[in-house]
Amino acid sequence: MRVLLIEDEIRLAENLATAFREAVGFAVDIANSGDIGASFAEQASYDLIILDLMLPGLSGVHVLRSIRSRGDHTPILILTAIADVSSVIGLLNDGADDYLAKPFDLGELIARAKALIRRGKGVSHPVLRIGDIELNTLEQSVTQGEASISLSPTEFRILEYFMHRPRVVISKQKLLEHLYDFNWEHHSNVIEVHISNLRRKLTESEQSLRLETLRGRGYRLHPPAHTHHSEQAP
Ligand code: CA
Repeated sequence: MRVLLIEDEIRLAENLATAFREAVGFAVDIANSGDIGASFAEQASYDLIILDLMLPGLSGVHVLRSIRSRGDHTPILILTAIADVSSVIGLLNDGADDYLAKPFDLGELIARAKALIRRGKGVSHPVLRIGDIELNTLEQSVTQGEASISLSPTEFRILEYFMHRPRVVISKQKLLEHLYDFNWEHHSNVIEVHISNLRRKLTESEQSLRLETLRGRGYRLHPPAHTHHSEQAP
């Protein structure tokens, strides 16, 4: 998952980014002004945008409107110091998905961020199932049938990304964008290593999903032939 954090208080931004990277393994880009934030949002595809309202340059409200006016439906969570109900209603009318008033609890921010990302993908429950594979986004655990599968954080994020997009062709570039932020040095052969580890850890069978390599195009997750995938509560 990749998050854009538009926040001008540098220490707060750095602390939030560290929390997201360490607690839930998200890639985080920080923009310290509204203009930079709007430009990042246009350049890359994010799973969530966290937007402060009081910003130098373009204000948070203008960033929100510019993102929505492009037809971009990325979930947006507003951070606001304004405890004014009417302005919050205005923000929600302008296309914000949720808001948190400062000062907020870090755990609550992370929980809301995860809920928004799930909702943004049309998934309202934290457990993804395809064939005999079950991935629990809250517990960060994966099982295949009765067996628990031990994945590295990156392998977990790759599998989660694929399970949200069965049958969709996903390029290596797209995977890199979602796994790493702008600061990371990109090497697409890293993806090959993770995919091959995933294939090795998941037992192949008729009941299981399959990760197909499409030469020059990327990868595609195939659900097993005779089952359908579902997203259910545990
Ligand atoms: Ca601010």
